[in-house]
Amino acid sequence: MFFDVPVLNRSEIVIAGAGPAGIAAGLAAARLGKKVTLVEQSGTPGGLGTAGLVPAVICQSDGVQMLAGEICRSIVEECCSRMGIPEMNPMWQEVDPEIMKRIYDRRILEAGIRLYYGVKAVETEVEERRIGALIVSTPRGLRKIEGELFLDCTGDAAVAALAGVPFHKGDENGDTMAPTLCVQFSNVDIAAYRASIAENGNDLDIWHRLLKAGKAPLDEHHFVGVCTYGNGSASGNLGHIYGVDTLNEEDLTRCYVRGREIAELYHRFYREHVPGFAKCDLVQTAPLLGVRESRRIDGIYRLNYADYESRASFPDEIGRFAYPVDIHASQADPEAQRRVEENIQKTRYRPGENYGIPYRALVPRGIDNLLVAGRCISTDRAMQSSVRVIPGCMLTGQAAGAAATLSLDRGCSSAEVPAGELQERIRRIGGVLPDR
Ligand SMILES: Cc1cc2nc3c(=O)[nH]c(=O)nc-3n(C[C@H](O)[C@H](O)[C@H](O)COP(=O)(O)OP(=O)(O)OC[C@H]3O[C@@H](n4cnc5c(N)ncnc54)[C@H](O)[C@@H]3O)c2cc1C
Repeated sequence: MFFDVPVLNRSEIVIAGAGPAGIAAGLAAARLGKKVTLVEQSGTPGGLGTAGLVPAVICQSDGVQMLAGEICRSIVEECCSRMGIPEMNPMWQEVDPEIMKRIYDRRILEAGIRLYYGVKAVETEVEERRIGALIVSTPRGLRKIEGELFLDCTGDAAVAALAGVPFHKGDENGDTMAPTLCVQFSNVDIAAYRASIAENGNDLDIWHRLLKAGKAPLDEHHFVGVCTYGNGSASGNLGHIYGVDTLNEEDLTRCYVRGREIAELYHRFYREHVPGFAKCDLVQTAPLLGVRESRRIDGIYRLNYADYESRASFPDEIGRFAYPVDIHASQADPEAQRRVEENIQKTRYRPGENYGIPYRALVPRGIDNLLVAGRCISTDRAMQSSVRVIPGCMLTGQAAGAAATLSLDRGCSSAEVPAGELQERIRRIGGVLPDR
């Protein structure tokens, strides 16, 4: 369909979504010499890692070797250095979301990327299997951004869905993992909290004691907890909002309202029951709902659980990853939670083990100049629940950015990008790939 609206901008590569995947894609493509435009619907770079207040960057390494590339590693290292943390923990690193935002802003702009905040992709112009332009909403109304290669890094595969790419959602009933509206506390006595753990257990132990005694404020069997940082801050991954579809406007609205209600209950729980939190303030609930799972595109290859079990290698692999299969329940149910925990324990790799991610999982069916990166690539549910953490999304992001440059240089469709040359470009920008 053609839209008669003014052109806002034209670039070789146009990226929707400035979360971890979109930023890695943009930095990769810009380093490889292309003109890039990046549009973000909110006013914040970093997606769920900042606006979603998710508390840490986890699993950059498999416990033996780094799997994250230079883009991800150097961003987290810079954040550590600004937080006064002498050495980054590649398995689990708390990050300060405000510092991360500043690092992202600066790196995006220094790379020469044309960045737009408050601009949302709402339609696509598609002709003969090619996207010609993204239609975006802006403060001045609808505009179009023309490009040659488009990258969908929206987390929800929003652009791919608008362009007609088939997708999957949730389990056999369409049920998805429950989302969480994360919270931020201040005025935490971190030293007192840490000192109390040996005697009282941590927040999770305290929650489960209350739950068992029938005194917990919520019937929540999957208590994740908080990460503390700085001089008294904590980000909390607290409470699931069960039985909702985050792609449905009514449910999405309910999630924000319910998430804020739940946050108050957790705030009270921490103040009353967790040592070190007696005077903590609830500074904010996240501006962006913590969506764990929505669409998964139908790509040329669907990464699947058998690949996880076999620690698969692929001729077109763009990186390797090691986070376990972590499918949070869609319903509040102790039995469902027991299965979640059993699954994580059963699937967790030993240190040094990892699986490959094939380039074909980023290539959607039906459109020749589109790539998808982040938590919505082509996988089954099990693999989505593994690859969805921040370093996994950055791996697919940097690969999509590099592949876009190659597709332009070769004048080929995204599906025809030659794997060997792509791997060479990924290495050139500091990506980690096994030696052949
Ligand atoms: C509660 C929770 C806790 C988590 N905890 C951790 C953790 O501790 N460590 C970890 O590593 N991972 C964690 N994760 C996973 C991780 O944060 C996300 O899966 C990851 O951020 C996904 O990256 P992404 O770039 O694919 O998408 P997102 O982070 O969702 O970014 C997508 C971006 O696209 C923008 N966007 C969406 N639609 C449009 C549009 N139409 N036009 C323009 N922009 C658009 C969004 O505003 C957003 O900025 C957690 C996830 C959740 C939900």
